[in-house]
Amino acid sequence: MSDPAAEFPTLHVSRHPAVLHKLALLRTVDTEPKKFRELVREISWLVGYEALADARLDALSVQTPLEVTQGHRLADRIGLIPILRAGLGMVDAMLELMPTAQVWHLGLFRDERTLRPVEYYNKLPDTTTVDLCLILDPMLATGGSATAAIEVLKHWGATNIKLINLIAAPEGVRAVVNAHPDVAIHTASLDRGLNEKGYIMPGLGDAGDRQFGTGHS
Ligand code: URA
Repeated sequence: MSDPAAEFPTLHVSRHPAVLHKLALLRTVDTEPKKFRELVREISWLVGYEALADARLDALSVQTPLEVTQGHRLADRIGLIPILRAGLGMVDAMLELMPTAQVWHLGLFRDERTLRPVEYYNKLPDTTTVDLCLILDPMLATGGSATAAIEVLKHWGATNIKLINLIAAPEGVRAVVNAHPDVAIHTASLDRGLNEKGYIMPGLGDAGDRQFGTGHS
């Protein structure tokens, strides 16, 4: 693969040691669902924290016990859009970071035959109610669900959209970058690629099954 930074200018891969440490535990086949969910939450928080580095701020006055000083608050109304079901495990972490964020669930499943996304849940109101949308999906595989979600949000009127993943495949990043070069992608890892079943390699398996204990033993 060519240099990811050159090929994918909107891709941000975390290099934080805490992320890399937790990612190895997340990938490990023996990691039980309870621990896996904890790690999803912790890595989401760290990747989400990095993704908010350029969030807009408003200035405000703060009265300390000693004097008045200048402070800040997040200016953007933030929308979290978890892609059901694997994105659910990322919501709590992001709400810890941004307690006033709105959460709009989007149900997309991957048709295992065509590997294309099918929308089955969407309760977005007619017009957008947020300034910054963060799409939450642990795995960016083919990019089908991500591009479908971005299209839904753009149709809703969203103009500032970021994609928050834990593991991305080059195929998925390429699909998103080509279709939506304005959307930043934040991930803990850029993996090697997809296998013939559409799984990310080396990946971590099925992120939904591993969180919710629904994989075949
Ligand atoms: N979805 C997953 O949960 N895992 C993959 O490897 C690819 C898509």
